[in-house]
Amino acid sequence: MIADVIVIGGGIVGLSCAYRLAKDGLKVTLLERGRCGQQASWAGAGIIAPCSWHRSDDLARIHMEAVFGYHEFAAELHERSGIDPLFRRCGEFHLILDDNRMKMATREVQAIGERTTPEGRPIAKTLTPEAARELEPNLAGEMLGVQHGRMSAQVRTPRLLEALRECCVALGVRIEEGCEVRALLKDGERVLGVQTQQGDATAEATVLCAGAWSSQLDPLLAEHMPVHPVRGQILLLKMPDPPIRHIISLEEEHFYMVARDDGHVLVGSTEEHDSAFNNRNTAQAVARLSALAIKYVPILSGASVVRTWAGLRPGTPDRRPFLGFVPGLSNFIAATGNFRTGLATAPIVADIVADLLRTGRCQYNLAKAAPGRKYPI
Ligand SMILES: Cc1cc2nc3c(=O)[nH]c(=O)nc-3n(C[C@H](O)[C@H](O)[C@H](O)COP(=O)(O)OP(=O)(O)OC[C@H]3O[C@@H](n4cnc5c(N)ncnc54)[C@H](O)[C@@H]3O)c2cc1C
Repeated sequence: MIADVIVIGGGIVGLSCAYRLAKDGLKVTLLERGRCGQQASWAGAGIIAPCSWHRSDDLARIHMEAVFGYHEFAAELHERSGIDPLFRRCGEFHLILDDNRMKMATREVQAIGERTTPEGRPIAKTLTPEAARELEPNLAGEMLGVQHGRMSAQVRTPRLLEALRECCVALGVRIEEGCEVRALLKDGERVLGVQTQQGDATAEATVLCAGAWSSQLDPLLAEHMPVHPVRGQILLLKMPDPPIRHIISLEEEHFYMVARDDGHVLVGSTEEHDSAFNNRNTAQAVARLSALAIKYVPILSGASVVRTWAGLRPGTPDRRPFLGFVPGLSNFIAATGNFRTGLATAPIVADIVADLLRTGRCQYNLAKAAPGRKYPI
């Protein structure tokens, strides 16, 4: 069978693209070096949270539309696969430790205005520490207040990936695992497909979703879309019951805690730009995450340590994704560099890829995500 589209990489982005394209009736082959959904996407905490409400650019629109539609995406995957990704709009407590952050939180709440969640609840407000502790009795530590965001949600990442994979298979996507793409197969500018360990594979179009490894397959990719690995480490704790209900986050420290309904608590995460492709945990990072967790939720000092892990986010020089056509390559689309928000934005990224493939355009202005763009270094 000759594919209409080859998708390189079976993380959240590649699986979402394959799923969406197969729903459009295209013959899709997805090539994954290892097993699907084992790299950054598996490592992700599964926080589905809005970006700053002050932003009005098209990348923010993409982000917000994905977040507002996520419950439908998760429900659709559940219905089609029988696997429940356990999407839950648990809300988030952004801890406010200083005046500057308080001003930002107040402005953010003003920017949200009267908007409501899909369930019709006000999206955000600022709480005093006392009011916050009424809702989260185990919350401790010095703070000026809390910005309570009701749009933030969580999803169980491995279940989400499993559900997506099932949906792809059911729609006839040919998934080749253990199949490493070594280079693009080209005739001049035209991408004909890919060279793999097992031989060449050809298709009308090729979509690159290889996460942190995305720049490695062709010199033009390295030149126009430098993606680098950014390690994030996670500590998984377990309590008999969930000690918190909301996601608790402290932006200054890249720190958050997410409690699952079964008492597991994810504590994350580092943002290490010099990690190269080393995805092991370090004693220092685990100690820091543990100390912060106990500082803000002291009851966690008695929690069991279940495991630690690390993943490599696809980072870019300006923290924006690479989404769209690549200069010097035709019949080829990049969908990568989704850095800290790939789990949240993947459904809309997949819609964009589908539109670009079908019509060569999409409803968003992708200039800020364009491969080959200029950015301050
Ligand atoms: C610790 C941590 C916490 C995070 N938390 C969140 C969060 O809460 N919310 C959120 O939205 N985002 C989060 N992220 C970010 C999110 O996980 C990423 O943005 C997203 O997973 C990127 O997806 P991807 O499909 O591009 O990459 P990946 O999941 O890394 O998938 C890329 C795939 O391509 C394959 N591949 C690479 N090269 C080749 C090749 N040559 N041939 C074949 N296959 C190849 C890889 O094996 C891999 O499976 C987190 C990330 C980390 C590390």
